[in-house]
Amino acid sequence: MTLVYPDFVKELERYGADSASDCFNCGTCAAICPLIYDHFPRKMIRYIQIGAKDRILENSDELWRCLHCGRCTLTCPREADPGEVLLALKRFVVDNHRRSANV
Ligand code: SF4
Ligand code: SF4
Repeated sequence: MTLVYPDFVKELERYGADSASDCFNCGTCAAICPLIYDHFPRKMIRYIQIGAKDRILENSDELWRCLHCGRCTLTCPREADPGEVLLALKRFVVDNHRRSANV
């Protein structure tokens, strides 16, 4: 069963991302991203918006593909700063693993 966490956008703020709600899923970031990979990073931001925390954790290895080139952030028409959102997701994933491992 897939759980949904409606407050995940808010939770992510403490990892440094407060702009995920601004995204309107136009797909510009996915089109400009040099990775050309499975609607990345738009897909991750959509997961945040719908509270699909488990999906993000299941696919977290994708986050480490990001080159942090900044092209997505520069071209986002909503100034949703997808590059910074990805960094926040990485912090969230690392913290989640740390808490799961109880260290
Ligand atoms: S370019 Fe910006 S508004 Fe468009 S999908 Fe990407 S993050 Fe969302
Ligand atoms: S910062 Fe990452 S997600 Fe954004 S365009 Fe560059 S490689 Fe793609």
